[in-house]
Amino acid sequence: MPMLSMRDIRKAYGTNQILAGLSLDVDEGEFVSLVGPSGCGKSTLLRIIAGLEAQDHGSISIDGKPVDALPPKHREIAMVFQDYALYPHMSVAQNMAMPLIMASLPWHARLPLIERIHPLARRGRPAVEAQINQTARHLGIEHLLDRRPAQLSGGQRQRVALGRALVRSPKLFLMDEPLSNLDAKLRTQVRKEIAELHASSKLTFIYVTHDQIEAMTLSDRVAIMRAGSFVQVAPPVTLYEDPDNVEVARFIGSPEINLLPTEVENGRLRIGDRLLDAVIPKGASGDLLVAFRPEAAQFDGIAGLSHDRSRSTSEALDFDVRSIEDHGADLVVHGALATEPSIELRVRAQKLPGTQMSIARIAGRKALRLDREGLLFFDADGQRVRDRTVSSVAAAASPRGALVP
Ligand code: ADP
Ligand code: MG
Repeated sequence: MPMLSMRDIRKAYGTNQILAGLSLDVDEGEFVSLVGPSGCGKSTLLRIIAGLEAQDHGSISIDGKPVDALPPKHREIAMVFQDYALYPHMSVAQNMAMPLIMASLPWHARLPLIERIHPLARRGRPAVEAQINQTARHLGIEHLLDRRPAQLSGGQRQRVALGRALVRSPKLFLMDEPLSNLDAKLRTQVRKEIAELHASSKLTFIYVTHDQIEAMTLSDRVAIMRAGSFVQVAPPVTLYEDPDNVEVARFIGSPEINLLPTEVENGRLRIGDRLLDAVIPKGASGDLLVAFRPEAAQFDGIAGLSHDRSRSTSEALDFDVRSIEDHGADLVVHGALATEPSIELRVRAQKLPGTQMSIARIAGRKALRLDREGLLFFDADGQRVRDRTVSSVAAAASPRGALVP
């Protein structure tokens, strides 16, 4: 049974349709990211899962139970937002205790002033303390428990916010762009900590981000969103190697995937004035876009760059090198085909150890070969063209899924 199940969730603000009928199941312990451009509805969906916002249509279940009628505090979820405000006048331990104390109090005792004097607010502290200590140990912030937020670094504050969300042992952990207020170095560090937290806690995570690298590095599956719909929901490696459409292909991967207009003629591929021998899906013909990742091509013998003869590559294309980016172990070469000078291409090449590369050494016209099996094809609507013949034959010939030779 999935830990989170959403069915046909729709939401409009006035006449603006924000969520267009989203369905998704998330397994227990799974880490799923929602990724997409600003305004596509990520936060709205997260707020609906949390119960902070009501959907117009559809249903949400957590751990098998519909929660549509439940307020946030009864949904057994934890949440961390981008602007995780800690209470400045309280210690770390007190900040972390707040959700536990609040949950144990009747509603009238939760009003801020009453909370200080209400006898219940002082009860049950040993249990609260034990839970805080355990969570703090988990996050490596035990030594910070007596400090005030102002005495913490940005990363430590973020960990306290995680701790405060986690003390209630939620079934579902929701995070909305939790790293976007941190500087780049800290972001990488806290990202690693979130990955470790997921690995050790086995909690179910729904993580919102607009950063594809965060999503790709943290997630079991990534849901790519656009204008209130899921474009593709799949593990990172599937999005990278087997995208359903050109939008996903371009969104995932850095440097970006290369795209060229092409025409498929008699099982061969026309690029510029060349007809290439390539592995072409059986359903492909006519005018298409062909795509290849920066590492799915290589140059003919450039001194200092590794050349893998075992790769099955196409005939050579004339490639004009314009600039390079040296990443230490590899080199990204920017340029264009001689026949398509207006289309910028990127090729990632492995450097041989100890190689100092300069644009002067590599500039000019080079021979580029595409990996015959590394090509993806998209139709005029941007939809992926796959090996339709094979799958339809297999489906027709083996209704029970037997292997077809
Ligand atoms: P994201 O988190 O992906 O950036 P949001 O879910 O915050 O996007 O917002 C999606 C769209 O809904 C945006 O166009 C936003 O302006 C609109 N929106 C969000 N909340 C409200 C609201 N309370 N009232 C009206 N429009 C809203
Ligand atoms: Mg948002």
